[in-house]
Amino acid sequence: MEHIPFNRPYMTGRELSNIAEAHLRGVLAGDGPMTRRCHEWLEQHTGTRKALLTHSCTAALDMAALLADVQEGDEVIMPSFTFVSTANAFVLRGAVPVFVDIRADTLNIDETLIEAAITPRTRAIVPVHYAGVACEMDTILDIAKRHGLLVIEDAAQGVMARYKGRALGAIGELGAYSFHETKNVISGEGGALLVNRDDLVQRAEILREKGTDRSRFFRGQVDKYTWQDVGSSFLPGEIIAAFLAAQLQEARQITDLRLASWQHYHGLLEPLERAGRLRRPVIPDGCEHNAHMYYVLLAPDVDRAAVLQRLKDAQVNAVFHYVPLHTAPAGQRFGRAVGELPNTVALSQQLVRLPLWIGLTTAQQDHVVSVLAQALRA
Ligand SMILES: *Cc1c(COP(=O)(O)O)cnc(C)c1O
Repeated sequence: MEHIPFNRPYMTGRELSNIAEAHLRGVLAGDGPMTRRCHEWLEQHTGTRKALLTHSCTAALDMAALLADVQEGDEVIMPSFTFVSTANAFVLRGAVPVFVDIRADTLNIDETLIEAAITPRTRAIVPVHYAGVACEMDTILDIAKRHGLLVIEDAAQGVMARYKGRALGAIGELGAYSFHETKNVISGEGGALLVNRDDLVQRAEILREKGTDRSRFFRGQVDKYTWQDVGSSFLPGEIIAAFLAAQLQEARQITDLRLASWQHYHGLLEPLERAGRLRRPVIPDGCEHNAHMYYVLLAPDVDRAAVLQRLKDAQVNAVFHYVPLHTAPAGQRFGRAVGELPNTVALSQQLVRLPLWIGLTTAQQDHVVSVLAQALRA
């Protein structure tokens, strides 16, 4: 069997003709026709009030922290089991990430631990929809409402996934998507901020356009544009948007192809779960996931490094993540953990992500699982 990479970016074939169209038109800066096409798609498919393309999910989270008016010393509740950008966006504003533990079933923030982490300084809750499987949003929204907190969804992995019929990212006040090459729908680097509340839209547009009201000027709503607020340049150019527009157009097919591979792994791995050698992902009722990843949790007594080495020797590139933020140097410097976070610490050491990309054959998946089974029998 030849080498099986962990990820291989999928391209629809329409990216280049879209880019050629933008090239021919000669509109290359942001917020041109290609960007509008992406905004319309996102608004239609998520129900958000306003979608705004950004350079990355990281940039969308930076915008969310600015929009939330998070101040020095404020606290923001989030899981420790996440990517660094979830925390960095708020640390950049001088806020303190307050890390709570995750649920053992979905690896999402444990909603039953959130309330105890709230203090007078708490400003926001940041649920991260791990692997495109929704957090328990009804409970989180209820807690936020009772305590007057904002909900900012890190939906980097959640494009095309739903919670009780609602698109991830369009449920809280703000949501952030990623179109990074390693995600489902891609533009190399890329992201979007979903602004789900009317009264935040105008300021979001201003922050994204260097603190100016240029968006209103282009719509003819003001006769000149000026400096209105703080801001930066968060908008991508039209070439990136052209690439993304091609991907969004095929988002359903992309998701269905990934779901088929996910389902194939899920069936193949059932005997190993029954034998107690690993645990498969859990998708709660009401969650429509997007097959962003397939991971397994090895039994606690299994040597993960040895398993990954066995896979590597058999030409299979499997990986793990995350180093829990509360144990990382910057996490210790800037954040605070609520308790010992036992699930975060234990499960992050048991997790293995298997190769999952469009074009991965069932024969390759069979090989991955058979090598994994052999490694676990050893
Ligand atoms: C990928 C990812 C990000 C960062 O996305 P970029 O587009 O690379 O900035 C943030 N949070 C989570 C949970 C992610 O998986």
